[in-house]
Amino acid sequence: PFHKSKGQHILKNPLLVDSIIQKSGIKPTDTILEIGPGTGNLTKKLLEAGKYVVAVELDPRMVLELQRRFQGTPMSNRLKVIQGDVLKCDLPYFDICVANIPYQISSPLTFKLLSHRPLFRCAVIMFQREFAMRLVAQPGDTLYCRLSVNTQLLARVNHLLKVGRNNFRPPPKVDSSVVRIEPRKPLPPVNFKEWDGLVRICFNRKNKTLGALFRQKSVLSILEKNYKTLQALQLTPEGLTSEDEKEMAVCVSALGDTLGDMSMDVDEGGNDDEDMEIEDGGDAAKGSSDFKEKVLGVLKGGGFEDKRSSKLTQADFMHLLSLFNKAGIHFS
Ligand code: SAM
Repeated sequence: PFHKSKGQHILKNPLLVDSIIQKSGIKPTDTILEIGPGTGNLTKKLLEAGKYVVAVELDPRMVLELQRRFQGTPMSNRLKVIQGDVLKCDLPYFDICVANIPYQISSPLTFKLLSHRPLFRCAVIMFQREFAMRLVAQPGDTLYCRLSVNTQLLARVNHLLKVGRNNFRPPPKVDSSVVRIEPRKPLPPVNFKEWDGLVRICFNRKNKTLGALFRQKSVLSILEKNYKTLQALQLTPEGLTSEDEKEMAVCVSALGDTLGDMSMDVDEGGNDDEDMEIEDGGDAAKGSSDFKEKVLGVLKGGGFEDKRSSKLTQADFMHLLSLFNKAGIHFS
């Protein structure tokens, strides 16, 4: 009866459901967003803890089952079920999101939530263990990656619970973890496109030095193109202000799609020589060599040339971005 392609793994351990409810800190006045309610084991306890539950479920059979489960009970008028794909529908207002989601939508969903306005209080979500560990990874951890840095720019992220695969029916192939995501309020004054542009380059090979990464021809040529375009326009993108919020929300949610492809990639380390810069002479390279010195000058000036992204903190990335921007170098 369960669809593997829809990630249908039903929570069958009631103690675990209780523990998720308890850790999520639901208030009796809360409107709760649930994603993928399935047969409603979590939904029932959400209804007991909060005021309203809005549940988005893709599978029409599950929607029917859910409606049948609560129909005729006093809970039914505090439950709204929306049938559809959570990634495609407009989300309603909610205070808190609690969900056991299908793992294939983890990344786009996370950034869809973080781009939702008004910002919610927190989201308590079951993820595949490795994805969860990437979300919470700190500089120096093996799983520290672009996903960690981008999520942590926008939210505080905590690991709440380890959940073994046998708590589900049918059991998935991987273990899981429950994570709490609390959007930062206010959001840091950073242009998110710029931020992600920088972070993307830095984590292209996270164990390479920034000096080596920024010597790559492919990187330099993109940055130089941006530089020249902006110079020609005599205009620089500004740091994020509140009126840019909407634009930023769009960037953040689009990020979910691109991170979706690569968030689980592991930095293989090896083959570091593959894109080593080969110095080419000739007139065509002349202009670029000045630009290259400009870029390397920024790295050297900030003491970043020999650093590796795997060890850089949020504050380091923020500082590096502002140094580049001051030099007129932009990433979007
Ligand atoms: N919450 C239930 C539980 O804990 O027992 C079921 C969780 S199950 C892991 C995921 C649920 O999400 C399934 O009911 C599935 O049909 C639904 N689902 C899958 N893709 C979805 C999507 N894109 N939008 C909304 N729901 C989706």
